Amino acid sequence: MHPGTVNVELDDALFTLPSRYEDRTQVTPIGALLSGQRAVIEGQVQLTEVVYRRRRALLVRLSDGSGFVNLRFFYFSQAQVQGLARGTQLRCFGEARRGPMGLEIVHPEYRRIGAVAEPLEAALTPIYPLTEGATQGRVRQRVDRALRALRSGEQDSADLLPDHVVQALQLPTLRDALQFVHHPPVGTRLEDLAAARNPAQQRLAFEELLAHQLSLQQLKQLIQSDPAGPLADAAGLESRFIAALAFKLTGAQQRVLTEVDLDLAGNRPMMRLVQGDVGCGKTVVAAAAAARAIGSGGQVVLMAPTELLAEQHHRSLQAWFAPLGIDVGLLTGSLPARTRRSTLAAAASGELPLLVGTHALFQEGVELAHLRLAIVDEQHRFGVQQRMQLKDKGRHEGLVPHQLIMTATPIPRTLAMTAYADLDVSVIDELPPGRTPVQTVVIAEEKRAGVVARIHAACKEGRQAYWVCPLIDESEELRCQAAEETAVTLAAALPGIIVDLVHGRMPPRDKARAMQAFKAGLSQVLVATTVIEVGVDVPNASLMVIENAERMGLAQLHQLRGRVGRGAAQSSCVLLYRSPLSPLARARLATIRDSNDGFEIARRDLELRGPGELLGTRQTGLAELRVADLIRDADLLPQVRDTATQLLLENSPCIEPLRRRWIGGAEEYGRVG
Ligand code: ADP
Ligand code: MG
Repeated sequence: MHPGTVNVELDDALFTLPSRYEDRTQVTPIGALLSGQRAVIEGQVQLTEVVYRRRRALLVRLSDGSGFVNLRFFYFSQAQVQGLARGTQLRCFGEARRGPMGLEIVHPEYRRIGAVAEPLEAALTPIYPLTEGATQGRVRQRVDRALRALRSGEQDSADLLPDHVVQALQLPTLRDALQFVHHPPVGTRLEDLAAARNPAQQRLAFEELLAHQLSLQQLKQLIQSDPAGPLADAAGLESRFIAALAFKLTGAQQRVLTEVDLDLAGNRPMMRLVQGDVGCGKTVVAAAAAARAIGSGGQVVLMAPTELLAEQHHRSLQAWFAPLGIDVGLLTGSLPARTRRSTLAAAASGELPLLVGTHALFQEGVELAHLRLAIVDEQHRFGVQQRMQLKDKGRHEGLVPHQLIMTATPIPRTLAMTAYADLDVSVIDELPPGRTPVQTVVIAEEKRAGVVARIHAACKEGRQAYWVCPLIDESEELRCQAAEETAVTLAAALPGIIVDLVHGRMPPRDKARAMQAFKAGLSQVLVATTVIEVGVDVPNASLMVIENAERMGLAQLHQLRGRVGRGAAQSSCVLLYRSPLSPLARARLATIRDSNDGFEIARRDLELRGPGELLGTRQTGLAELRVADLIRDADLLPQVRDTATQLLLENSPCIEPLRRRWIGGAEEYGRVG
């Protein structure tokens, strides 16, 4: 091979990066071993026995004078037992954890050692993610061969980045960075690799984040490559809409609406995400944008993730638009065929200005002759692919619709910049006046009776309560069953109080009826599964109990809690948990108890659980970063974003190779549709 060529296979090997490292450079005294620690230990076998508690196991007690630890083997041979006789000296590596008789290591790697001290590893050991059939040894060999080729100049895994970008970074060269992450130099400690200040890791992280950023920004360019119709609102409908509202928009709502209006007045399709905490009033901003589109002679769709929510949006939009003489259609799976057909026809002819439905709306081939604006509520389940589809399916007369996406899962700014790089982001960071923050308490399940008594007293005073049911089971059916049973027991425990029920398996008509009855004050307690998670709005409900709160995500708990605290009354939320709580669960519940701020909660969630959970099932690819870590490397993000913008502007030849290197062909989310 000629010097300076790129061998794809070698390049692949070089960019197979370790997912973690092990420290086999020193022996840890057994007495200093901590639960959860992976370490090398040495000691003498004190006792070897085969036990039959629950499951047959070989137990070897190892001691080094500072303490003892048990080695536990579930699979073992007779020869192995004999080789572990009392007095044998062992060196082991494995993860210590608390067992029934003190610390233990299950299936450690081990080796007998003699009188002469055997050398330890000089440097940290990289551990690679394994694909099927591979072993650590095999991957290491492949990587080492590639590194040798890189050093000798036979392989040129060149810096794909332009020189000025590399220089601005003030980080090691790509070659040095690769050498470092595959073979951290002697003396590097695990802490050095976990911290943000490791230049070699940062160098690679920058490239990886850049590749993702480029991919998403390209997607945005692709979506915006066709024109949208500028929405001038000659009819002045938007200002009439705002003037007719019963309340004044908050400063934040006004600011965000100005940003939206500016987009809509342009001829590039808007791609805007409106973020805001639960209850901040995103719907009315979206409705004002809808008014502008309708006032410009266009049609608007609003898509919601559930039927319940679609119906509720339909009702609030009707209340706002009917006085202005604007029709609002509703399209859900459960409508009678006749109604459905006539709604579809009115949409297709262009006669119906505003159509509300579930996300399925677009998959079902709904046609709108003059679609100019698509509003998507709660984008959690609405990813990059769907946005592409919206562009393609919404295209009419050469124009693609503007897209406005609303989310109530606030995420920190830097993360939003990265995860939603294909969207412009607006934030409503202010709640309407007159809201009192929800008071949250965390209570053990054993004290349930006291909670029920409290609900009884509150309902007698005319207040209303949600009771959200356990999420214990994965199966929807069992969950609904649990809700039904809870409704029955609560009704028995709450004489004189009307207890109603809403869950995902009920026919939509019954769901709507239960919601409406609750809203009208005809029932006082509404037992629900998490179907009420998003968007449901009943201002008089000021109490919420959430069972098994320790099993739910923070974002979800915050969403649920956002159903109360919508009126002027002091609201409370009771988080019931089942003991014992793990330290992580305790920390998470404390976060919800101590904060009412969705952004703060999201930040903690990110710290506690990582971005994969926070971003949900959204297919950004960001959950599977190889070397970058969105928390550790957060300070790189602004530079990543600027560099991506610059490279796209220059139409740099490095874009495609970078994408190929870091993202590959499989999940090329920039190329869907
Ligand atoms: P979210 O942002 O969680 O979707 P909504 O749009 O459902 O919030 O709004 C929550 C409630 O606040 C609704 O009842 C809405 O009518 C009301 N609301 C919205 N904006 C204002 C405002 N500026 N002043 C008073 N109430 C408002
Ligand atoms: Mg909402």
